[in-house]
Amino acid sequence: MGELRMIDSKLIDTHGRAHRDMRVSLTDRCSLRCTYCMPADFAQWIPSAELLTTDELMTVLRVSIEEGIDEVRLTGGEPLLRPDAVDVVHRINALPKPPRVSITTNGLRLAAQAGALRDAGLERVNVSLDTLDRDRFKAMTHRDRFDDVIAGLAAAKAVGLAPVKVNTVLMPGVNDDESVTMLRRALDEGWRLRFIEQMPLDAGGIWNRASMVTAERILDDLSQAFDLTPVPVRGSAPAEEFFVDGGPETVGIIASVTRPFCGNCDRMRLTADGQLRNCLFARDELDLRAVLRDETLDEASIEAEIRRRLHVSVEAKLPGHGIDDPSFIQPPRPMSAIGG
Ligand code: SF4
Repeated sequence: MGELRMIDSKLIDTHGRAHRDMRVSLTDRCSLRCTYCMPADFAQWIPSAELLTTDELMTVLRVSIEEGIDEVRLTGGEPLLRPDAVDVVHRINALPKPPRVSITTNGLRLAAQAGALRDAGLERVNVSLDTLDRDRFKAMTHRDRFDDVIAGLAAAKAVGLAPVKVNTVLMPGVNDDESVTMLRRALDEGWRLRFIEQMPLDAGGIWNRASMVTAERILDDLSQAFDLTPVPVRGSAPAEEFFVDGGPETVGIIASVTRPFCGNCDRMRLTADGQLRNCLFARDELDLRAVLRDETLDEASIEAEIRRRLHVSVEAKLPGHGIDDPSFIQPPRPMSAIGG
């Protein structure tokens, strides 16, 4: 549930927003091909030599924590495809003033790694699951891996990762008839379900505002079967939460398009190839990899320059994503190479 937390971040933008949440993409590669994210034959991956090493990543995170970042969400592509993902969690937890660590995963490798991730210090997990129907899963992801996701969710619960959140994207005429069944299953399993509006960030450029499933539609459908009451406190959380049938269980809606929440945004993003983004929809990035690999700089100068670029990025942050602006242009980098 949204919470108000004491924020002592120095990363304050010109709109008064304090940034404390860093979304870190560990890789742009993925083991699924979700239709709303990338084409089935997509293979334009970032060359491995351009990906940050774990040492480089720790340098950026150490400086970011000193500037006020206290939450790190590991994302991808699919973060658990990175061979040392468990070690990354372990090393983040070994940093001075360690941040809270969570992960957004497609769940395919979660059953095998849940225990090791928990032992390394992972607190909670978000798993993407858009349908409870195996054939529909296969059609939506081009992979017959539904059982692996369900096994991953069960493993996360079994090892005590909490909360176990499930992120669901509804597509018109594809799975938009499943909101009620998804919520019923989530209540049975103890998953914290959040529906995410489809965003104009796909690699295939297929997003169409006129046809997307909106928050209003989702709430209408859910209200046919459940009594929903708004959770009063939201804070900077992306999800608008609703108590289900009086609570304490909740369901969330992340409505970036129709109910933007940029006014309280506290997030920054680091791509797998070391580019700093002040917004999911940013068109500009600041290169941290070049600083990390600049042989003319010593460690202190590298850290100073990363610190400076963190502040430059935040100070340049726009008030919102501008999707409703006629001048809006989809960022050149797809969601799969930015991270959720
Ligand atoms: S769209 Fe950008 S500014 Fe708005 S909430 Fe997302 S990251 Fe923050």
